[in-house]
Amino acid sequence: MTDTIDIKVTKVEQSRLTVTDFSQLPFGKVFTDHMFLCDYEDGAWKNPRIVPYGPIPMSPAISALHYGQAIFEGIKAYRQPDGKISIFRPEKNFDRFNKSAKRMAMPEVDKEIFMQGMAELINVDEKWVPSQEDYALYIRPVMYATEPYLGVKASDTYTFAILTTPTGKYYTKSLRVKVETEFTRADDGGVGFAKTAGNYARSLYPFEVAKKEGFDQLLWTDAQTHEFIEEAGTANLLFVIDGKLVTPSVRTTVLDGVTRDTIIQLAKANGIEVEERRLSVKEVIEGIENGRLTEAFAAGTAATVTHIGVINYNGKDYQLTDPETRKVSNGIAKQLNDIKYGLATDNFGWNW
Ligand code: PMP
Repeated sequence: MTDTIDIKVTKVEQSRLTVTDFSQLPFGKVFTDHMFLCDYEDGAWKNPRIVPYGPIPMSPAISALHYGQAIFEGIKAYRQPDGKISIFRPEKNFDRFNKSAKRMAMPEVDKEIFMQGMAELINVDEKWVPSQEDYALYIRPVMYATEPYLGVKASDTYTFAILTTPTGKYYTKSLRVKVETEFTRADDGGVGFAKTAGNYARSLYPFEVAKKEGFDQLLWTDAQTHEFIEEAGTANLLFVIDGKLVTPSVRTTVLDGVTRDTIIQLAKANGIEVEERRLSVKEVIEGIENGRLTEAFAAGTAATVTHIGVINYNGKDYQLTDPETRKVSNGIAKQLNDIKYGLATDNFGWNW
């Protein structure tokens, strides 16, 4: 970062920290005392500020509500053994945020606003960063269109906000997932690679249907044929086939996950062969049946590395190997965790 910005800080009179039960932290429900806000108008970002977390007054006509111009990110900060706080690869999230912004016809956020806003917010709410094992501070940057105008066009004004929430594990057990062959999450030429609200909105109904059927997640397939695996609802997918790490290649329909990229780099450093390519449902199902597919997992900032226990395809359950026996994913998950929590040397320069 070249420049620094002046961030006005207004602190809460009474912190909620003492009345927060850190042993009960459902994902994304408990927010820290403060949030970061910055407004975009007349072609520039203005008034960066840290204020008490709380409701934001808005017109019911803002275009984010009607036309979905809204993007977000998910990042985590980890308490290190020496008490310091480290944020994992936030510049990747910054780059992806602005990619999402461009696709959604929204203004890019300046790097110092994103990075310094996040760092100063965490400094102000420093005591909220958990130190329990497997816990972290989840950081949620979000930008939404604020112009109160019902014409369909890109908004002229936006708010960029950063919220933070202390959190434990997103998934606590291996997943039972369904290969989705009716609905689609993303299509070629669409916005699947952007972290934008509508991608999640369109996935909710299929996800509700799947939950009622007893599934934890969906494996999304391509829109044209439903024959190729793309990703899960909130995570990328990785498989071990013939000892190689195989993951669907990143395309316009697949989010370029930071965790996915990190795992690929770790696997290569461990001498594991990695294949980023189209991966058919047929190959996965046959691999389970003939034993060539030995591991499957979802990878994301919130999900971390979560084993897949059962894959359901066309109404039939396919049982995978016992998660405890999975050497590749368990090995990489531990390495990744140790780097994030400062328990192993960060040779890649990922901790900020
Ligand atoms: N795919 C989707 C649709 C997601 O929402 C996420 C979570 N951000 C991921 C993949 C994983 O991305 P990351 O590792 O950057 O969190």
